[in-house]
Amino acid sequence: MPTTRRAPSMSASKCPPQLPRTLLRELLRDPVVAGGHISFSQSEYDGLRGEVAIRAQPVDHIWPLGGMAYQGTLLQIAATMGDLPLAYEMIRLGANINATDQFGRTPLFIAVQAITTLDLFPEEHQPPVPNILPGMGPRSKMVASLLIEQHADVNVILNNETCLTLTMRAKVKQWDLIELLITHGAREDLGTRNGVVQCAEEKERISELLRMRPKKRPPRLCPCFSRRLLADCHGKGPRPFPYHFFCPCQSRSVYAKCCKKRKVSWRDVWNEERRIIEPWRKEMPIYLPLSQDATNIISGIRRVYGTPIPVTEMVRRRTDVPLAVTQLGLPPEMEDRVMLPLCLCTLMRSESVDRAFGFAVAKVVWHVRPLGRKVPKKYAAGLARAFNKHVDDEVRILVWCSLQGL
Ligand SMILES: [Zn+2]
Ligand SMILES: [Zn+2]
Repeated sequence: MPTTRRAPSMSASKCPPQLPRTLLRELLRDPVVAGGHISFSQSEYDGLRGEVAIRAQPVDHIWPLGGMAYQGTLLQIAATMGDLPLAYEMIRLGANINATDQFGRTPLFIAVQAITTLDLFPEEHQPPVPNILPGMGPRSKMVASLLIEQHADVNVILNNETCLTLTMRAKVKQWDLIELLITHGAREDLGTRNGVVQCAEEKERISELLRMRPKKRPPRLCPCFSRRLLADCHGKGPRPFPYHFFCPCQSRSVYAKCCKKRKVSWRDVWNEERRIIEPWRKEMPIYLPLSQDATNIISGIRRVYGTPIPVTEMVRRRTDVPLAVTQLGLPPEMEDRVMLPLCLCTLMRSESVDRAFGFAVAKVVWHVRPLGRKVPKKYAAGLARAFNKHVDDEVRILVWCSLQGL
């Protein structure tokens, strides 16, 4: 989980939209989209977008919003503001489409909630609250549709509500959205029906939609927004990195004027596990070795499960400079929150794993290892600081215990 930090200064360089130009033109030509919150033209958001676009921060970094209590990833912020171009851009840059915010809401849940909350206010009284611009409802609906078509989870349950129960509860039924949700697999047997008032005609219409729904979820369109299906685009193999996007080498120049000129070739590859598009430098894979302690923990967990230990896989994981940031997550074995503490206990008792390391590793959700210059310095320093704090805490406890003769 990324940590929060202060927003960068307003002087951050202007960030060109990381989207196909035709798509961007089309979006901005739509008066409903153009009349709303457009992060591309606001210096605060532009700075945050820039940090993500050059990959100085992970795309799922949680940002505090100026003057507001809300904190979120840029995709969650896009859903909150009904900022369609920003939602497109973050999906293009590989945002986790189902990341939950401090209230446990996914971007889709946020967008649907915005639509149905607006429904409580008569149109002539809008905008009744700050940050709600005219046309917010239709824009939030566009964001919701994009997220659904990009295969966001349509069955998230929060406080006994689902996206479908929220839309069914609304006074004005958004039938196109209800239909899209059902077509993409929204289940009607989840969440509470308390307060849902439906006339016979509406009930009939919903059961008809449920009856007619396709057996399989409609295929996902490629998140590069080429308008082709994922399976026919990036899902098929690496594609060229767009010339007008920021160069993944973090130079803050566009690819055409940077690595491309120096004959350093970047590709966009599909990461099936995380279901995102990632840049990949063709000729120069970099290996991040695991630390000895982490290797011992993984071996311990694998031993318990009886899974073989492919040494090569454990000691080297292919990565590259910007990819290193996104690959800091825990190795899958260490995400086992039941087995991890058990194995740690045994390993720490036999002194196979350093005690302070073992204590701290159970508290962090990234993969602790030497990073060298493979991730941005500031980012690595932040991680190291947090980890060392856990180590210090443990050392303090150990010292206290020994003073007490325990
Ligand atoms: Zn594609
Ligand atoms: Zn470059």
